[in-house]
Formats: sequence, structure tokens, C-alpha cells
Amino acid sequence: MTIVAPSPGIGALVADNAQLIGGEWVPAAGGETIDVLNPATGETLARVPRGRAADVDAAVGAATGTFPAWRDTSPGVRARLLLRWAQLIAEHETELDQLESQEVGRPSWGPPPMANQLTFIAGQADKVQGTSLPGHSPDVLGLTLREPYGVVGSIIPWNAPGPMFTVDAGAAIAAGNTIVIKPAEDAPLTPLALARLALEAGIPPGVLNVVTGYGPEAGAAIPAHPGIRRMSFTGSPQTGSAVMAACAKNLVPLHLELGGKSPQVIFADADLDAAIPAIARGITLNTGQICAAGSRVVVDRSVHGEVVQRLAERLAQVRVGHWHEKVDMGPLINAKQHERVLGYVRSGQDEGARLVTGGGVPDGFDKGYFVEATLFDEVAPSMRIAQEEIFGPVLSVIPVAGEDEALEVANGTDYGLVASVWTRDVGRAVRMAKGLQAGQVAVNAALGAGMIGAPFGGYKRSGFGRTMGADMVRNYTQVKAVSLRGTK
Ligand code: NAD
Repeated sequence: MTIVAPSPGIGALVADNAQLIGGEWVPAAGGETIDVLNPATGETLARVPRGRAADVDAAVGAATGTFPAWRDTSPGVRARLLLRWAQLIAEHETELDQLESQEVGRPSWGPPPMANQLTFIAGQADKVQGTSLPGHSPDVLGLTLREPYGVVGSIIPWNAPGPMFTVDAGAAIAAGNTIVIKPAEDAPLTPLALARLALEAGIPPGVLNVVTGYGPEAGAAIPAHPGIRRMSFTGSPQTGSAVMAACAKNLVPLHLELGGKSPQVIFADADLDAAIPAIARGITLNTGQICAAGSRVVVDRSVHGEVVQRLAERLAQVRVGHWHEKVDMGPLINAKQHERVLGYVRSGQDEGARLVTGGGVPDGFDKGYFVEATLFDEVAPSMRIAQEEIFGPVLSVIPVAGEDEALEVANGTDYGLVASVWTRDVGRAVRMAKGLQAGQVAVNAALGAGMIGAPFGGYKRSGFGRTMGADMVRNYTQVKAVSLRGTK
């Protein structure tokens, strides 16, 4: 098998033109490939199979064959295998960080979270418990069992391919399911590397299957396959809706993690020394390509001028560059995303918002998909840049007067993924935490305050279902009620 080396030290983790089906590294059934590019340079990092329905069918077949044995494997053994996988990830954390940096185009984030995620998940594997039930007569014993679904499907996006992969794959297999997972075509290399480490850790062939390919081909074939018993999708609302329609056709339950337009609500008593850098980082991290990015600043008019001035100073200092440099922001993922973000900048200007800083391609970066960190002021809540997910480093400031208007504006989009409140007033923090329509609310923090085990997921059109929480493995099980009547 040929090994490609996108950069020294990571080649051994990614095989050329190979996806993982039934424990074997195989090309696509049709023999076609996809080039994976570094978005900063356009250079080809690797090629992966262009899987289609036939590849999904083979993967579902392998996962179906392995399911009974994996279901019957002791949860303690499953937990130990997941911990071994976590250990191997920790041992390769530098290579994995470099690999993800290159395919996503972001600067290094340091040790990735996957080993910790899997450690948390492994701890839940042997704690999925049923209940005992009261009966109508004394000779009846009633109880519930939590059982895996069978073969589950998962489709993940490109913006954080490593953590997305381990959260879905880890929780599904910890519960005793087997899985077919399709990474995004723009960033499949970190998932393939993680799958290699899973095999090395001893997770049996066929438990974890990775089919690479395009969304409308390999992706669409997963929820359409009659062998899939549960789906998980993370990505855009448009694709989520299509996946849900396919699940509806097959009557398969699903979990959707979709987009966001998350508000950063700043009151007059906020600690701006803490808020400004956190909000600037929240919109420039991963070049704004984070579902939880706080892309709307809803600010009380009394501090509006100061907030805009300080955010503008901060964003103007954002260093742009390549993954291996000491910079704050890399390029966007691809040409389509580049055009989309610049299109939203034009839309903001056309609708009358005031462009304070950024808005274009930084000097000297005409190659690759770079954009400047961008700040709009005097944004009306109805404008497209205030309503639609841009998925880029574009921050919209909406001035408001008082708590009621702040809450109304903050809740005034179709999305509800996360929200932040900046205030020193505990009463107001409590009211806002209860009033904000979002799956997570942070007080005095931009992207959450670093909790372990916090459930993550959306309100409204940001999706439904939760990952990361204390129930994440249990969520991959279904309930069976069992009654036993004793004989004389
Ligand atoms: P996308 O919907 O275009 O693609 C996501 C995945 O779906 C990819 O693997 C893609 O190949 C696949 N896909 C595309 N068309 C498909 C189809 N017809 N059938 C089945 N699969 C198909 O999204 P994206 O641009 O890759 O990701 C960005 C979006 O993801 C943003 O909206 C972002 O907010 C969201 N996101 C959400 C979370 C979360 O946890 N809520 C996390 C990360 C990203």
C-alpha cells in the first residue's frame, strides 16, 4: 500500500486511496478518487476513494455482519478498547493536529480534544442501565433494557473533522452499535487516521467503517440504505433537511447538529476587558467556520461606541497566514466558501450596514481562500448578515436599548445553538440564561466556559438531539420493556 506524506511525520497515518470497510483498506468500488487539497496553497495533500452507493452497501454489509458479536461484547471490554484508542490518539496528538490543520487550513490548535472525548465516552460504556418496573400482581417482574440500534450511519462536516468523528463513532460503538461514517470530502484525512488508530487499538474489523466520497453520492446513500437503523448528521440545515427526508422515507430516527447564528449579548456593566478579546477570538477561530461562532454582537447602546471601537482594533490586528506559522487565522476551506463569505460582505454593504474593518482579501494573499476579519456596525436585525449563517470571520454589531430588546433580538433568528451574555449582574444573567433560546448559554465566556460533559445541540433550526453530555452513549440505545411472570 502506498503511503502519502502530506508533511513529514504524518504519512504513516494516511494510506493512499483507501477507505475502511470491514477492517480492510480498500479503494472505491468504481475505482474513482477525490483529491484532498490544502486550502492555503491548493496543493494536493492526498487522494481518497470516491465512494458511492455500492461502497456504502459494502460497509453496511460489513457492519451488519459484525453487529451481533459487538453487541454481545461486554461493555467493560468495549470501554477498554475505547480507552486504548484514546491512548493511541494521545500518543499521536502532534501528527493529528498537523493533519487536521493542513486539511482544514487552520493554524495549529495544539493537542486535539479527541483523546479526552473518548475517555469520557469510554466511562459511559458500562453505565447504560435500565430500570425496574412495578407490576399489577406480585408474581410479575418488570424491567427495561437499553439495547443498541444495530448499524448506525453518520455524516460529518469538514470544519472540525477529528472531534466530529470521535464523538459520533465513539458514542455509537460504546453502546454496542456498529457504524458507517462518511467524513466530508474536503477533510477526510483526520477521520481516516483516527480509524487507523481504532483498528490498531483492537476495535474489531467491521465495527467502525469509513466511506469517503461526495455528499450527494456516498452521503445520500447512507440514510437511504435499508440496513441503517439510526442516523446522525452534522452539517448545514439544507443538507440536514435532505437527510431527514431520506430518514423519513425509511422511518429511521435521527439526530441533527446544524448551523448557528449565535448572539454575544453585551450589557453596560460587562467586563469589556474580558469580553472583547473572547468575542474577537470566537469569530476568528477556524476562520469563523465554527457552528457555535458568536457572529452577532447584541450590545446595549450605552457601551456601543466603545465596544465597536475596541472590537475593530482587535480584529484589525488578526494575523492571517499558513497552518505552520504563528498566526490567528488561516484561509477558508474552499472557493465556494470564499465566494459565499465575500458575497455576505457585499450583502451587508448593500443593505446599509457600516463596514468598520476588513471585508476583503488581505494584501499578499490572492492565492488560497483568505479573507480579512470583518466587522459590521449598525446592523439591523432583519438584514441577511444578522439572520443567515455566514460561516466566516464576519461579526455583525446590533445596538439595542435594555434587556427586553436585547433578548428579543438575540432570539430573533431561526437558529438556537449557543448564546453568550456579558454582565456582572447575577439577576440579569439568570434571566437571560433562562430566556435565551439556545442549546447552550455561557455567561461571561464566548464559546462556552470549558465544561466537561455539557450536552451540546440546538434549539429551533439548529437541530435536535444532544451530544457530549452524560447521556451521549445512552442516546445511542433504544428501550425494551421486559415482563416476566413467575410459574408455580
Ligand atoms: P454540508 O451540509 O454541506 O456538508 C456536511 C456533510 O454532509 C458532508 O460530509 C457532505 O459531504 C455531506 N452531504 C452533502 N450533501 C449531502 C446529501 N445530499 N446527502 C447526504 N450528505 C450530504 O455542511 P458543511 O458545509 O460541510 O458544514 C458546515 C455546516 O455544518 C454549517 O452550517 C455548520 O454550522 C454546521 N456544523 C454544525 C455543527 C454542530 O455541532 N451543530 C458542527 C459543525 C458544523
